[in-house]
Amino acid sequence: MRAVTITPGKKDSLRLVDDAPEPPEAEGPVLVEALAVGVCGTDREIIAMDYGEAPPGEDTLILGHESLGRVLADPTATFQPGDLVAGIVRHPDPVPCANCAVGEWDMCRNGRYTECGIKARHGFARERWRVEPHFAVGLDPGLAGVGVLLEPTSVVAKAWEHIAAIGSRAHWEPQTVLVTGAGPVGLLAALLGTQRGLTAHVLDRATDGPKPELTARLGATYHTGQVSDLDFEPDIVVECTGAPPVVVQVIDKVGPDGVVCLTGVSSAGGQVGIGASTLSRAVVLENNAVFGSVNANRRHWNAAAEALGRADREWLAGLITRRVPVDAYAEAYAPRDGDIKVVLGF
Ligand SMILES: [Zn+2]
Repeated sequence: MRAVTITPGKKDSLRLVDDAPEPPEAEGPVLVEALAVGVCGTDREIIAMDYGEAPPGEDTLILGHESLGRVLADPTATFQPGDLVAGIVRHPDPVPCANCAVGEWDMCRNGRYTECGIKARHGFARERWRVEPHFAVGLDPGLAGVGVLLEPTSVVAKAWEHIAAIGSRAHWEPQTVLVTGAGPVGLLAALLGTQRGLTAHVLDRATDGPKPELTARLGATYHTGQVSDLDFEPDIVVECTGAPPVVVQVIDKVGPDGVVCLTGVSSAGGQVGIGASTLSRAVVLENNAVFGSVNANRRHWNAAAEALGRADREWLAGLITRRVPVDAYAEAYAPRDGDIKVVLGF
């Protein structure tokens, strides 16, 4: 069968192979036919050899961590043939650490977890894959066109859960959220903010393309320019650019008792001139909390499925700006102006 693979440690190794083996039963009893695989910056970093690890004893890694498929067979009867499912990306470490032991593998303490399509476990960019029922998340049948957004939504659902947990340290009535970066994660963060009844603001560099309109259709306000020039102090910030100047500005901009969630990863070497004293003053004197969030556990995947189910499907479809058939796979991994989410179709 066809699969999109790379060879970790080898330059220009991205391939579409047509002789990938059928998924082994060791991957799980649920057999799934791939419908779509989302592409993100992590895939490009793996292709560029920044990371990516083949399963033990193998030379190649099947890419793809944002999945959507249709169940072909499930002997456990957890799912019925035809059900829509997505596969959970991270699997707990085998030891396990205290967090993996209770299903919070997103908070793994020893780094020995594996991740489909990323770290020591094959991904979903192949015609068929297998999964344990506990690592498959069922989706409303009406989400066939947009369910591939479940993985980025799970990341955002975790971020919001942790924002709420941190906010509950004291009396807290947040009104406004600022999201920096209007990529898929940013726009989905704004969606979940509006679902929580907050007034959402989205800031991005783009002055045209689909981002301003998608923001407006959420009932949110779109901004370009500098965070420091905004004329309000958000109660919550979800930072999705990873750009060092933006990170510094949102920490300075957030209102008193504010919560800043960093979800973007800065490229190595990005330096901005801010002193530790300035930073500690901005954080300490206003009781601000700045924290990082990555990945998601089963609870967040379920919350994400619920959030997608409540969302406007046309709006969700607007996030998918290109659909590339798997035969033209290389086009999917080459970014273009105006892209929000690019999806490989099987
Ligand atoms: Zn662990």
